[in-house]
Amino acid sequence: MNGNSILFQDALLNSDLELLKTIPKSDLHNHAPLGSRLKDFSIAIGSEIPSPPSAMQNIAEMNEYIINNLRSLIVNPDGFKTSIALALRQAKMDGITKLEMSLDCQFVTLFPDKEIGLINFLKQISKSEAPEIQFNPEIGLSRNLDIAEAENWIYPCIESGYFKSIDLYGEELIKDATLYKNIYKVAKNHNLKLKSHTGEFGNAESVRYTVETLELDEVQHGISAADSKDVMKWLRNNNIRLNVCPSSNIRLNRVQNMEQHPCRILADNGIIITINSDDIMIFDQSISDEFFNLYNAKLFSATELNVLRINGLQ
Ligand SMILES: [Zn+2]
Repeated sequence: MNGNSILFQDALLNSDLELLKTIPKSDLHNHAPLGSRLKDFSIAIGSEIPSPPSAMQNIAEMNEYIINNLRSLIVNPDGFKTSIALALRQAKMDGITKLEMSLDCQFVTLFPDKEIGLINFLKQISKSEAPEIQFNPEIGLSRNLDIAEAENWIYPCIESGYFKSIDLYGEELIKDATLYKNIYKVAKNHNLKLKSHTGEFGNAESVRYTVETLELDEVQHGISAADSKDVMKWLRNNNIRLNVCPSSNIRLNRVQNMEQHPCRILADNGIIITINSDDIMIFDQSISDEFFNLYNAKLFSATELNVLRINGLQ
């Protein structure tokens, strides 16, 4: 076991958050511009922002909060740039050394030269804020967007060669995965890693269906797979990793509490999982916080959590 593994476990055993922050970790499910703490964003833009409800019923309720309280502050050139800088600072402060930052393709509209402006900004800000982080930009697509309109933005991003992966998110049950087959084919042809949210609110079979339909390499969430031995076996045999976000699942009323989070079942069934933040601005939990949450809930031992940490770095 190397030095970082020993220190990581020591940090958990001794409730030493500051030490835990210094150990290399990944965040592979991180929707920028929601990647920083709400209070940091509030201070940076000089505007009081109401906190999100402590319990939300679903993604629609979270989106309602975002539309009413954050959207106008983020969807403008200055607010967007500030939020991305803060997300990088947050990751750096938390010891994230590998960051797959998901950026909605809609954000190209904030730049006069569209995807070229977005890419130039991301190149510059990742270099100036966090050059030590392995920064893997991910192009994101929301199921809530009109597909024909989104195609105008996402194809140039895929074809740019800058983005390393693609992710589909938003309200999982409103549009079938087949509608995105063409976009994912093009992304595959351009060697992007293929990811999608599935099995967050959909059932276990929806995880297998989405992986097969879009030829996914990895799944964001996928926790419903824990309800089916058969789907878990299939995911294991196909080596599909799940990038889970425990606090997000609890706050969105999908899982009752940390003690009952299905990531334990998934890991016990041989599925490779990683621990991620989803939306720090909404859920207020960093990756270090999340490791403590799982440890304090006695869901995993410090040694097991170190395996999950290393999963993300590989
Ligand atoms: Zn997500």
